[in-house]
Amino acid sequence: MYEDNYRQRGLRQKLVKKLAEKGIKDEAVLAAINRVPRHVFFENALLDHAYQDKAFPIGEGQTISQPYTVAFQTEKLDIKPGDKVLEIGTGSGYQACVLLELKAKVYTIEYNRKLYDTVREMLPSLGYKPYFFYGDGSKGLPQKAPFNKIIVTAGAPVVPTALTEQLAEDGILVIPVGDREKQVMLRIQKKNGKLIKEEYANFAFVPLLGEQGWKEK
Ligand code: SAM
Repeated sequence: MYEDNYRQRGLRQKLVKKLAEKGIKDEAVLAAINRVPRHVFFENALLDHAYQDKAFPIGEGQTISQPYTVAFQTEKLDIKPGDKVLEIGTGSGYQACVLLELKAKVYTIEYNRKLYDTVREMLPSLGYKPYFFYGDGSKGLPQKAPFNKIIVTAGAPVVPTALTEQLAEDGILVIPVGDREKQVMLRIQKKNGKLIKEEYANFAFVPLLGEQGWKEK
């Protein structure tokens, strides 16, 4: 097991307070963030960074998303217990833990073999058990579709059609779309077979690669 001491819990509560001040209103999302020990995703020497509201490198040129971004995307997904959720871009696994804390059934897919191997070992050792997949999530996960919710945690050039096709009726897709450096957050809901789109603020994600993503540089 991991250590979660008084100081770490205190820093986490401060972070949650900050997220609420920044506009996150969903109490269930804030409580979920308050339960996930973000410091276990950081090396000991970097512990001070764990509860700052910023993204952080996790190796392989990738990042653990900023807590505000995780909270924002999770809030927009409106997770209900038992929802079948697809996450594209497992990365560190932190976002998957937040979704699991909300009692979702989580399928998470990662394109980078090294990150996939690391997280697949680490998360269950913390007690978090999503279904792990290795591959190109820009094509979704057709063998497990449809999903009530889909979250993309890398910046896409367009909304991959595979993802809207794999949304269940009333399902919600939250995805950052734009250029390689900056994206706008989209929330797309399927209602009577139609796609209803809402646009939110700008974010900066690492690129979504793969067939319906960006070409690797
Ligand atoms: N959700 C992660 C977390 O909680 O730490 C942060 C994800 S990081 C910002 C983006 C991740 O998307 C990287 O790990 C990257 O390898 C992955 N990725 C990029 N393109 C992908 C694709 N086509 N399919 C699956 N994962 C992809």
